[in-house]
Amino acid sequence: MRLIYEPKGRAREYAPLAANLYTSCTHGCLYCYAPRCMQRNRELFHTCANVRKNALKLFASDCAEYAKMRLTEPVLMSFVSDPYQPDELELRITRKALEIAAEHKAPIQILTKGGTRAISDFPLLAATGAQAAFACTLTVCDKSWAAKLEPQAAEPEDRLNALKAAYNAGITTWVSFEPSIDEKSVIEFIRLSHSYVDLYKVGAISGDKTLSTISNWRDYASNVINELEKHEKKYIIKSDLKKEMTPNGD
Ligand code: SF4
Repeated sequence: MRLIYEPKGRAREYAPLAANLYTSCTHGCLYCYAPRCMQRNRELFHTCANVRKNALKLFASDCAEYAKMRLTEPVLMSFVSDPYQPDELELRITRKALEIAAEHKAPIQILTKGGTRAISDFPLLAATGAQAAFACTLTVCDKSWAAKLEPQAAEPEDRLNALKAAYNAGITTWVSFEPSIDEKSVIEFIRLSHSYVDLYKVGAISGDKTLSTISNWRDYASNVINELEKHEKKYIIKSDLKKEMTPNGD
């Protein structure tokens, strides 16, 4: 397969398979690691939404191969771009990819900060298979802080509304707390969303740690776990946070 790939390293904790149809992202998050991963100029990466050459053709051929190989693992969109960045509403690349995936029964997991921009595609997402899921990255509750941190992404409340809509549409939902920026926000997000989020994935922060207000990662993890267990929620603590929790980093 050429567009659907097996993520390596830390990304593998999120999904066994992934696909990036866009090769840039205009959300412009300050903590974005994608330009570094892709060896791209940071400013250019955040300037406009580029689509990979022949993306849909390659994706269709990979989905056909996926079906032929009788694979069942979900394919995550996306690690190094966002499938619902603003231009998706015009370009409809993700929507067309979902149509293809539904045809081949290749279950898709969407991970986005695009919020309710994704809602109109939920019937297609559900049609990709029983393992389909909708997920949002949540960082800070405060609207103006979020606007500085993730300038073009959907507002925090809009992302929560999208999760609720997915859950009400019968789609599995999960939240990524990675990067972890602010403990109070994370606790508040859990309180607000536990009735419609199925799973929480909690990580630390890679790259510029000065963007995070968290200094004691062990206390942070313990407080977040307490809150999640209070609401009897399923959660995964990612290996980078586990490392931060241990005194020797092992
Ligand atoms: S949504 Fe993801 S890919 Fe897009 S700018 Fe933010 S961190 Fe980077």
